[in-house]
Amino acid sequence: MEALGTNTKHGPCCICTKKNKICTRNCEFAAYFPNEVKSDYEAACELFGTPNIIRMMKLAPHEQKHLLASSILKEGGAWTDDNIRGGFGVIQKLMWEIKLHKAYLSKLRMKISEEKNN
Ligand SMILES: [Zn+2]
Repeated sequence: MEALGTNTKHGPCCICTKKNKICTRNCEFAAYFPNEVKSDYEAACELFGTPNIIRMMKLAPHEQKHLLASSILKEGGAWTDDNIRGGFGVIQKLMWEIKLHKAYLSKLRMKISEEKNN
């Protein structure tokens, strides 16, 4: 049973938890920062601070709020995983993986080409 229209099904959103507020069904942040992303939100909160996260969310156009929330959470996660390089480290790692896969793909193509010529 939902008392007073609170978000009791999944727990209060991360922002209401941080601000020690009751998270209602109409909470504007519950869809973007549900309780399930608490650890990433905590990391993002250390990076940006809850007041800045709220300000960024309020300034973002409605259709881009999900993208912004996802970006904020990913940044938090990136800084947790690598507290020196953060998001830049994630990009460097992905670029390195792309290089490796391209080299592997190139090798495979050469092998296929050689097999066709034999
Ligand atoms: Zn809330």
